[in-house]
Amino acid sequence: MNQPTTIDNPQENPSAYADLRAGTPLLWCNPARTDIPATVQAAGELHISLADVEAAQARFRRFAPLLPALFPELAETAGVIESPLLAAPAMQEGLGLAPVQGRLWVKADHSLPVAGSIKARGGIHEVLEFAESLALRHGLIGPASDGPEDYLALARPAARELFERYQVAVGSTGNLGLSIGVMASALGFRAAVHMSSDAKEWKKARLRNRGVEVVEHAGDYEEAVAAGRRQAQQDEFTYFVDDERSLSLLLGYSAAALHLREQLAAQDIRVDATHPLFVYLPCGVGGAPAGIAFGLRQLFGPHVHCFFAEPTQSPCFLVQMMADSGNPSVYDVGLSNRTEADGLAVPRASELAAAVMRPLLSGVFTVADDTLFAHLALAWRMQGLRIEPSAAAGFSGPRMLCESAAGRGYLARHQLQAVMPQATHLVWTTGGLFVPQAEYQGFLDKAATLGA
Ligand SMILES: *Cc1c(COP(=O)(O)O)cnc(C)c1O
Repeated sequence: MNQPTTIDNPQENPSAYADLRAGTPLLWCNPARTDIPATVQAAGELHISLADVEAAQARFRRFAPLLPALFPELAETAGVIESPLLAAPAMQEGLGLAPVQGRLWVKADHSLPVAGSIKARGGIHEVLEFAESLALRHGLIGPASDGPEDYLALARPAARELFERYQVAVGSTGNLGLSIGVMASALGFRAAVHMSSDAKEWKKARLRNRGVEVVEHAGDYEEAVAAGRRQAQQDEFTYFVDDERSLSLLLGYSAAALHLREQLAAQDIRVDATHPLFVYLPCGVGGAPAGIAFGLRQLFGPHVHCFFAEPTQSPCFLVQMMADSGNPSVYDVGLSNRTEADGLAVPRASELAAAVMRPLLSGVFTVADDTLFAHLALAWRMQGLRIEPSAAAGFSGPRMLCESAAGRGYLARHQLQAVMPQATHLVWTTGGLFVPQAEYQGFLDKAATLGA
């Protein structure tokens, strides 16, 4: 593994762009992060707050009685779509993270039911919100303020006849399509997923098996989204889930923070000034990690430190955060956007996610594809975690934070060195459940050829 290049303030360090261009793994810490408790902070012009996070969670709860009727695998959890919080001591040792630097935990979204990835949170939330608004408008359910509603009504013929008239469409590299397509078609909507050329065949096949229309585009993720958006604008019965602009997606992800708070409490894990929480989140367009980081900052204020992880060839969020203005792409800095981490193969960040994160984010680090495969194999060997390459991106974070100059500078500025033995490092694993075995074996073989 290369020694990470470190940059603290790109404005004062023009060589940062050279490092970025060279595709060298690096950690960048956000000079605009503020310690002001996030609860009193408006997120840019958006004015979203903890109340919106709670509203998203309440929506999931309203739908919980309906979901096992659509997905039998949710009977066990009474319709709750959640993932475990796992201690990862063997992985910690395998990564070489010293115990005096804190303890490693994994938030296992790679095992989320229904969608098999973190997209279960945002994607499903937005489909549910659309279905709910239609059902309200047509009098199939009453307003939530009128008391508990029978959401099982949404599985009955009157609702299905209504939903059948609408198409839900989305542009995706794969996983967002899987979550939107599967949930939309289960509710009775017609569903169309616009896929980029790098989308995996098995993801297309899985969607087609569920009756979802897969529209293939020759270009990258951004072009697939644009094509889907254009088509939707021409049809009033098409609802387009816009990954680059959607607040509903972002808030669906954010609800994870409320559940995580309960899981941390159940494990007696404190989060306060002497018990910092470091969270490492794989980042594509930015909606998923931004939603979760937003929720966590609402709950834990300055004591949670969120870092995004991106492939060295697709660091669109880092490019966005480093830029003074505009919405540059990774191509603009000479990178290829080619990575095996298909969930993160995004050339341009969501401006919405970037605006939300500007005062809240601690930093962004980049990871070489070889390291993704090495950590994918390590997660399997050490903890039996079966993850896809995108989901391995967070595992480089703890050592980069503790050992690089930029990371040590961050810890020093926040006066955290002395409390690191009590720190919690939480790596978010974001996808993998539905990866076919032959495909997964290919990942392990690839790691083996790299000597991992
Ligand atoms: C989509 C995805 C992410 C990142 O989500 P964005 O909202 O695109 O930033 C991370 N990991 C996996 C496996 C994903 O599919």
